[in-house]
Amino acid sequence: MLALGTVTERLGRLHYTLDDESSHIEVDQDAARATGAGALLERICPAHVYRLEPDGSVGVEYAACLECGTCLALAPAGVLRWHYPRGSFGVAYREG
Ligand code: SF4
Repeated sequence: MLALGTVTERLGRLHYTLDDESSHIEVDQDAARATGAGALLERICPAHVYRLEPDGSVGVEYAACLECGTCLALAPAGVLRWHYPRGSFGVAYREG
């Protein structure tokens, strides 16, 4: 039987190519504060990309994004500008 390992172990086997010139995720900080979206984003992202800061702003560690689209589907309208990373950047799933 194939040993899959823990979620953390499996995530550790992914390969990321970082686009260090531009983020594929932008947060409208005013909209995030107005809607309270920071706490939602922090809770739903499986890769812990979002961090609710003490001042109510939302930090984004886009390099860890799994491109699952969950945040885009659930964030209140106007909070996120999200697109796939350009070119060959982003995450590569090597185990299907
Ligand atoms: Fe997190 Fe998925 Fe949104 Fe990437 S697409 S930031 S992994 S919820």
